[in-house]
Amino acid sequence: MKEGIHPEYKPAVIRCSCGAVWETRSTKENISVDVCSKCHPFYTGRQKLVDTGGRVDRFKKRFGLDK
Ligand SMILES: [Zn+2]
Repeated sequence: MKEGIHPEYKPAVIRCSCGAVWETRSTKENISVDVCSKCHPFYTGRQKLVDTGGRVDRFKKRFGLDK
């Protein structure tokens, strides 16, 4: 068995932009995600855009979709 090829899995905290926080194990200690299984429209069944900091508006403006 070679050394150094197996990542060390540590307790990690994942934070979603919707405010959900849960613990898991990962090679990273802190993880931030934009959508999670709690707030993603696919899982919630709602067509609700999770707009953090106007990111969606900027996207629309950039591609002229807000007209
Ligand atoms: Zn979420």
